[in-house]
Amino acid sequence: MIIVFKPHATQEDIEKVKQKVVEFGYQPRIIQGVEQTVIAAVGDETMHKSLERLQTLPMIQKVVPIQKRYKMVSREFHDDPSVLNVGGSKIGAGNFLMIAGPCSVESREQLRTAAKDLTACGIKIIRGGAYKPRTSPYDFQGLKEDGLALLAEIKEEFGVAIATEILSVPDVDKVAAVADILQIGARNCQNYHLLEVVAGAGRTVLLKRGMATLVDEWLSAAEYLIVHGCPNVILCERGIRTFESSTRSTLDLSAVAVAKKQSHLPVIVDPSHAAGRADLVLPLAKAAIAVGADGLIVESHPNPQEACSDAAQQLPSGQFHEFYDELKPLIELCNKPR
Ligand code: PEP
Ligand code: MN
Repeated sequence: MIIVFKPHATQEDIEKVKQKVVEFGYQPRIIQGVEQTVIAAVGDETMHKSLERLQTLPMIQKVVPIQKRYKMVSREFHDDPSVLNVGGSKIGAGNFLMIAGPCSVESREQLRTAAKDLTACGIKIIRGGAYKPRTSPYDFQGLKEDGLALLAEIKEEFGVAIATEILSVPDVDKVAAVADILQIGARNCQNYHLLEVVAGAGRTVLLKRGMATLVDEWLSAAEYLIVHGCPNVILCERGIRTFESSTRSTLDLSAVAVAKKQSHLPVIVDPSHAAGRADLVLPLAKAAIAVGADGLIVESHPNPQEACSDAAQQLPSGQFHEFYDELKPLIELCNKPR
């Protein structure tokens, strides 16, 4: 941490701050210029007694962190990319994972047809929301426990792993009883209490980036999961809010590249929620693979026109093979162990 004094700080001011730095458990290194003085506080910045509170002292201009707020997610902690095993499928370090399924679980017939179509294409992890975070309270909110029961049925019948969203703390146990992957949606990326509780559920967590979340904040959210007991975290870029309105969100492919440089965790892309329209899912998926994504999560419904949520962006599950087949050579080309 670098503590910058206002110009012409007195020796007494410098001494006072130096004492505080020592009290907080850091070693102060004083750099005295002609007009301005700086203290470099050497120590572990991620300790709870944050030096940032020195900012409130009248003689201080600013306090600048030099160390990242996350460690366990970073490449400094774990040099090589992590490989996770989810319900028998690997992801990371050259293992590409495709997750597909409807936005929402709507009925037994809808979910079974999707599972049948998608498993025929080789999909081993089916997504489907039982609890849905909807912008309007008048929109379909998901089948909730009945949706979980349907997910449990297809898990058994098709031998697939399940990825489904967890919205709130009281639901963690019952959702974790069915889910192999607990999805933290964009709206909950920085819901720290939920992250803490979900981390203890013993499942892999798919952490979507929030619509207005910085990469640093997203990685810090992943740090919460690891610190609270969940080492198996998959990061997911799903588009951010920008001034652009021709797509539902702006797919931030740079964030995928940055996250993969900073972190050893697998990073996947959700082209469906970024695009908001089915015709853009394939080109965005190709771009995601090219930038180095370790997998995709794609919405696919037996009959998108009749979907209860996100109808415009879902690929017909009966034609999913066309989409997947077009990506396979690119996956082969780009997904090398790194
Ligand atoms: C979803 O996956 O259906 C969903 C709600 O996604 P997001 O949190 O990215 O909006
Ligand atoms: Mn959706």
